[in-house]
Amino acid sequence: MDCWTSSFELRKHVFDSLKELNITPSSQRGQNFLIDSNIINYQIKQADIQSNDIILEIGGGIGNLSNCLVNRGKKVYIIEQDKRLVKFLTNFLQSYSNVEIIQGDAVKVDLPEFNKCISNLPYQISSPITFKLLEHSFDLAILMYQREFADRFFAKPGTKDYSRISVMINLKADCRNLKTVKPSSFYPQPKIFSSLVSITKKEEMIVEDNDSFTSFVRFLFTNKKKTVRTILINKIKRMEKQGSTIERKTLDSLQFMGRRVFTMSLEELAEFHNQIKERIGEELWSDIISPNMK
Ligand code: SAM
Repeated sequence: MDCWTSSFELRKHVFDSLKELNITPSSQRGQNFLIDSNIINYQIKQADIQSNDIILEIGGGIGNLSNCLVNRGKKVYIIEQDKRLVKFLTNFLQSYSNVEIIQGDAVKVDLPEFNKCISNLPYQISSPITFKLLEHSFDLAILMYQREFADRFFAKPGTKDYSRISVMINLKADCRNLKTVKPSSFYPQPKIFSSLVSITKKEEMIVEDNDSFTSFVRFLFTNKKKTVRTILINKIKRMEKQGSTIERKTLDSLQFMGRRVFTMSLEELAEFHNQIKERIGEELWSDIISPNMK
């Protein structure tokens, strides 16, 4: 059954709520509310919510989406930063005993345990919140992003959009681009298009040491246009000045040294990570990829 019977009903909820709150939506906080019922109903369908699902919503706003989650899942956690909206949501959803509203910045608060995350994200936190979600265990996320940001999930090595998030999301999840969403589906209308994305967490990853690989990818992608050799040698030189001794010649024979970082696929990065860790040894390796060793 659809959650909102029409966009007319949804729009009425949005405009009446904003009037009651007497607020102007803040663009800095990404307060663009969905007013197209087809999109919300589609999101709910894609999430395939079961009665035992524990759901996380980031950015509850005035409850456009929350309203559709609370009577479907077992438990719904909603994180909202704006205190005025938290007060509104608490009142709006008061008849549901399975809701917990957390006031705070979703990037900073401890996330509760959940198995599905369904959210129209505030776009200014897209990057940190996606990395944070990827560190958690969950089954499925149905998330709305700015289109250009979501494009990075599907970018191929060697293209301009290929970045750290492309590698990390593909390491940990299978993604599908579900829909492009027009600016007119939101109030106030943003200037950009959005993409609705489905993210299914992988059960197994191709790397064993997640922490080391994660730091390694961060280390390399800070200078993604440079060659792996340049980045490594620069770091080693700095470490040598601080007293470390590293046999540079042993690195020269490694495969991939001449490659520019942004041309390397996930599989190649994983292979290189294994090779170099073995060649250099655990201790020095953790110093090389440590952000604290400048
Ligand atoms: N869920 C509503 C919808 O679907 O229309 C609102 C989504 S709106 C795009 C994003 C919401 O995230 C806003 O209500 C905003 O106040 C909230 N928000 C902004 N930054 C946040 C943050 N760092 N942590 C949690 N919520 C945040």
